[in-house]
Amino acid sequence: MRTIGLLGGMSWESTLSYYQAINRGIAKRLGGLHSAKLVLVSLDFSEIEQLQAIGDWEAASKILIQGAQQLKAAGAECILICTNTMHKLAPEIEQAVDLPLLHIADATGAALVAHKHQRVALLGTAFTMEQDFYSGRLRENFGLDVIIPESEDRQRVHQVIYEELCQGKRLESSKQDYLAIIQRLQENGAEAVILGCTEIALLVQQKDCELPLFDTTQLHAEQAIQFSLSAPF
Ligand code: GLU
Repeated sequence: MRTIGLLGGMSWESTLSYYQAINRGIAKRLGGLHSAKLVLVSLDFSEIEQLQAIGDWEAASKILIQGAQQLKAAGAECILICTNTMHKLAPEIEQAVDLPLLHIADATGAALVAHKHQRVALLGTAFTMEQDFYSGRLRENFGLDVIIPESEDRQRVHQVIYEELCQGKRLESSKQDYLAIIQRLQENGAEAVILGCTEIALLVQQKDCELPLFDTTQLHAEQAIQFSLSAPF
């Protein structure tokens, strides 16, 4: 089993989901008392959020690169950035640290293609929805047609992530807002929805909605499990 490296804390609420999903997946495949070999570097999300808000991505990349180097020094054999948003800095991290980076958009794109979806909606932070680093990769590498909510809906999705989900709050009113937004995306032709923020599945699950949901946290965790088990023990 190869050792997985998690660059987490963004937020820790979803890092917990990663830890659970990876361990459950390893136990399911190997049985008994098996659990994942992994190392975790958990950042202070307040520092990261402040840098995001002022657009200082260079300073943020220094923090993430340092974290990735700590993972390598601790024996990690791959890196997962446990947030969709901070994949904006994936190229810088990949260049600075000599370890395979398992990209969350690749795990997601592959799953969507396997299910033969073509027109897909993306929910996430404003950075993820509005910039090109995520949807561009889905378009170019997987041929997907990615749509996003209207401006007011994007603001609401973003606000709930930072003001509630990343702080452990799950409000029924926010869940209903998300479901209404998903409904509008369906009316706009979406065949599936990418939960493109690692906390969204803490609020909305498949049982709440008929449109297929693709939870990036689970898909990314699955990618890590496959990597970990793909080499001889
Ligand atoms: N975890 C979230 C994501 O997947 C948002 C937090 C962040 O900005 O990193 O994008």
